[in-house]
Amino acid sequence: MTTKLKVVADQSIALVKAHKKKSITLAGVTGAVLLVVGAVMLPGMPASSPAPSGTPHLPWQSGTSMQYGPSGVHEAGYDPIWGTGGWKAVDLLSDGSTGHAPNSVKAVTGGTIDGVCDDGTTVAVKMGGFIYAHLLKNDRLVIGHSFSQGDELGQLKTGTFGTKGKGCGYADQSPGWFHLHLGFPNTDSIVFGDWTLNLSEEVWRRGNETRKVNQWIP
Ligand SMILES: [Zn+2]
Repeated sequence: MTTKLKVVADQSIALVKAHKKKSITLAGVTGAVLLVVGAVMLPGMPASSPAPSGTPHLPWQSGTSMQYGPSGVHEAGYDPIWGTGGWKAVDLLSDGSTGHAPNSVKAVTGGTIDGVCDDGTTVAVKMGGFIYAHLLKNDRLVIGHSFSQGDELGQLKTGTFGTKGKGCGYADQSPGWFHLHLGFPNTDSIVFGDWTLNLSEEVWRRGNETRKVNQWIP
C-alpha cells in the first residue's frame, strides 16, 4: 500500500515539474506534450516542408556501408505528432568498424526541420519529407534549422535505449551499434543515389545487385 501510494506521488511530482519547466525533454511525459511540439511554428516559417532538392542520397558517408535492418520496410510512426501514420521506414545499422559507416547521419536531401520529437534520450526530426529517428540531441536539431544535402544532422544513440510505445524512439541493439530509422511517404519505390528501394518487395536494387534484410549496402 505504501509503495503504491509512493509511485503515484512520484508520477505527480514528475508531471508538475515538467509543467513548470514547460519541458518537452522529460522521459515518460510525452503524449500530450509532444502534440504541442508538433504544432510549434516559428514566425515566418513555411507551413509545410520545402520540396526535397534533387535525388535523395544515402544518409551516411560515401565509401562506407550500412546494414539494412531486420524489420525491412516497416511503419514510420510518429502519426500523433506529425500525421505520418501512412509513412514507411527502414532501419540502417552500423557499428562504425572498418568499412562500416561512422556514426554520422547525413541529410538525404536539403531541407528545413519542421518537426522535432525529443524525449530526453533521443531526438527524431522531420525534414524535407523524411523522418530521421534515434539521433542524439544537438544544437542543429531545432525547428527552422536548414540543412543542405549531405550535411551532418548528428550522431545516433548506441546500444539499447527507450521503451516501445513511449517517447520518441527505442532500440534493442548491441553495445556500440547504432541505427537510423529513416521514414518517408509510402510510394512504390524510393531512390537514394544509385540504389532504389522497392517498398512492397522490401528489396534494394542497383542494376543487377540486390540487398535484402540483414545485408550491407553497398
Ligand atoms: Zn525503424
